[in-house]
Amino acid sequence: MDLGLKNKRALVTGSTKGIGKAIAIELAREGANVIINGRQPDDVAKVVNEIQEMFRNTKPEGAPADLADSSAREELFRGYPEVDILVNNMGIFQPMSYWDISDETWDKFFKVNVMSGNALSKFYLPHMLEQDFGRIIFIASEEALMPSGEMPQYSMTKTMNLSLAKSLSKLTKGTQVTVNTIMPGSTLTEGVQEMLENMYHDSSIAPEDWEADFMKNHRPLSQIQRLIRPEEIGRFTAFVSSPFASSFSGAALRVDGGLVPTIF
Ligand code: NAD
Repeated sequence: MDLGLKNKRALVTGSTKGIGKAIAIELAREGANVIINGRQPDDVAKVVNEIQEMFRNTKPEGAPADLADSSAREELFRGYPEVDILVNNMGIFQPMSYWDISDETWDKFFKVNVMSGNALSKFYLPHMLEQDFGRIIFIASEEALMPSGEMPQYSMTKTMNLSLAKSLSKLTKGTQVTVNTIMPGSTLTEGVQEMLENMYHDSSIAPEDWEADFMKNHRPLSQIQRLIRPEEIGRFTAFVSSPFASSFSGAALRVDGGLVPTIF
């Protein structure tokens, strides 16, 4: 199926690894010209080259910047004043006890996980409305609906993503622009692989059984009982980015393997 994304310009924040990289790859597979972002210029250049090798008919570009920083965002806006698709993927997470979270940590999570995506949306949305096509997608988490209590400072920001996307979607009434949120469940990124290693390296469980043990004991509500692969989130995000997904608006879309136990 051709998703109709050829030559669309897509900015995916935090796309040097993990879910963001998988989203950028799937968008490029569909012919989109992706802008790769991360904080390290070398990492950004590496992913741009990788995508260029994989999809020679596209024009990937790199925008190394710490997007939590407003002056870095201003520079990005000067280099890329218009995009058709904005994926607010970049986000930080860290398991922490509520009692150990300082005011500075709450501020940092708010700034990185909410305000950066908000500032980018505020800048790119007007052009999308003007051209009567655009997609803004926030990558939240199942923690948005079901805070585990393992990282309250993170869960709060992910719930805020849902509210923000809903408010932004109200600005798109009657247009071909949509704003939505995708909520992945636990996904096998490099960071989650590292977490498994930290959890199990001293145990008697063989590495090939770590994932199954983690799902059984730490994610018992998951119906699929496996970690989601980043490319699964990538493919779904490419679909939501496409003109075929024109009737999703202000939606909170679960890609969590059935982890959230609701009837809706
Ligand atoms: P990751 O840590 O593997 O990758 C994060 C990316 O963001 C990297 O490219 C990093 O360089 C970039 N980044 C971080 N801070 C940045 C900044 N200030 N400026 C620019 N780039 C920055 O993360 P991931 O696991 O792929 O998660 C991506 C998104 O998906 C996050 O929003 C996360 O909350 C969400 N999510 C992840 C999981 C999971 O299990 N991995 C589950 C649910 C939701």
